[in-house]
Amino acid sequence: MGDINRLASQAQEILGRDAVLQDEQSLQFYGRDWIKDFKPAPSLVVLPAAAEQVQAVVRLCKESGTPLVPSGGRTGLSGGATAAHGEVVISLERMRKIFEVNRIDRTLTCEAGVVLERIQAAASESGLYFPVDFSTRGSSQIGGNLATNAGGIRVIKYGNIRDWAVGLVAVTGNGDLVRLNGALFKNNTGYDLRHLLIGSEGTLGIITEATLRLVTPPKDTARVLCGLRSNDDILPLLAFCRDSLRDLSAFEFMERRAMQEVLHHRGLRDPLSKQHPAYILVECELNDQAAPQHLTETFGKAYEEGLIVDVVVSESRAQAQELMNLRDLISETLSSHYTLHKNDISVPVPAIPAFLHELHSAINEAYPGLRVVVFGHVGDGNLHVNVLKTSSIGDAEFWQQCRQADHTIFSLVQKHRGSISAEHGVGLLKREFLPYSRSEEEIEIMRGIKRAFDPAGILNPGKIFQAKHDESPPQKR
Ligand SMILES: Cc1cc2nc3c(=O)[nH]c(=O)nc-3n(C[C@H](O)[C@H](O)[C@H](O)COP(=O)(O)OP(=O)(O)OC[C@H]3O[C@@H](n4cnc5c(N)ncnc54)[C@H](O)[C@@H]3O)c2cc1C
Repeated sequence: MGDINRLASQAQEILGRDAVLQDEQSLQFYGRDWIKDFKPAPSLVVLPAAAEQVQAVVRLCKESGTPLVPSGGRTGLSGGATAAHGEVVISLERMRKIFEVNRIDRTLTCEAGVVLERIQAAASESGLYFPVDFSTRGSSQIGGNLATNAGGIRVIKYGNIRDWAVGLVAVTGNGDLVRLNGALFKNNTGYDLRHLLIGSEGTLGIITEATLRLVTPPKDTARVLCGLRSNDDILPLLAFCRDSLRDLSAFEFMERRAMQEVLHHRGLRDPLSKQHPAYILVECELNDQAAPQHLTETFGKAYEEGLIVDVVVSESRAQAQELMNLRDLISETLSSHYTLHKNDISVPVPAIPAFLHELHSAINEAYPGLRVVVFGHVGDGNLHVNVLKTSSIGDAEFWQQCRQADHTIFSLVQKHRGSISAEHGVGLLKREFLPYSRSEEEIEIMRGIKRAFDPAGILNPGKIFQAKHDESPPQKR
């Protein structure tokens, strides 16, 4: 690693004094993401305001052999934006221009530091729609969303953010500014490098600009909360909804405990008449006049057929929002009230009930001090497995048991041919577990791709897989 003070003054010449931060508060603030599992220890924070400035910083770091950590809204849940080894954090928060909303080809082009919610709003102001959505919409940035191939609640209808990225501009670890696919919808000229950058967690390039696809907005949206007798009813209900609802846009699962925590801690009213072992929140777009009535009839039929035992269909936008809040608020509610270890996994959809059953049995049997609460985007096979500390164990024992429990959970994921990270990425948190989901051969190919984009290994080293020179794992809490 080069002389950091020299690097800081060179960066100041390029970016200006106020765009280079070295005070302890800034280092702590920019050095970690949402999980706060790792102790931040960056040596410098830089705030470029244009792609050329990003390029200049990467070149400086390459010359001096200084590692860089790209930083978006730092809402990541895998430690991907953590700088724990004296790295330079490069935050794109000053790069927040929306260049264009093109109504002809229905695209939006913006800098990578634009927050997701602003993209949704800009699309809406032009009468269009950007459907990727999740609860950190107000703080996560499009660069971070693309670097993690973010998912969210509407993947069942609209796919992951990968499906919405028409073109990217990025700076590679070599300091080259590359334009990947521009604004083309058809381009079969060899490898699609754009898709390598998407989901690469800042290890291949720093995304500086994105062109995103937009669509016609739905006329309206309704939500339906269903009470289920057991997790065994999830799949029959999903099949029924897919058959009956043309515009199914979300199919979200909450265990009873997840729902009760939100109702209790947020002081909300239970919209259903009593508690149930499992809940499904359905979102459906209403694109024709008969749709609201069709929705009510459909869920009446589901009730008659015994697929659900309780139901409420939203009758206004406000009520639809109230129902979505029950799902949206789970993550933050659990984090505010418990010592908690989060896991985000996926298994093939048909394996969901068996996986849930095996998960609860395995954890209850082997780790009585841990309590598992599950919710998630079950229509995509994506479950958020939250491990909560109970009062029977102390903090140190909790973290130690979580490490063991991770192996138990990931063995089950592997058994069902699932993924140890569905939408949050690998980052630092899951890199040691990567072999549960990826073969040695695959990991070696990934290392080769990393070398091609970043020959000096300066971009987010140690994330996804261990960097060769990275002898010590980062310090955990
Ligand atoms: C309450 C809560 C709910 C969430 N729900 C969801 C959900 O439903 N679906 C979902 O997918 N995620 C979810 N997340 C996770 C998180 O919000 C997403 O991963 C988000 O896409 C991260 O964006 P960010 O800007 O905060 O990125 P950061 O956390 O800053 O960074 C994430 C990764 O991207 C890299 N990176 C950041 N910017 C760039 C760039 N410009 N170029 C290259 N690399 C970059 C970083 O180095 C890091 O590896 C949730 C998080 C929280 C806290």
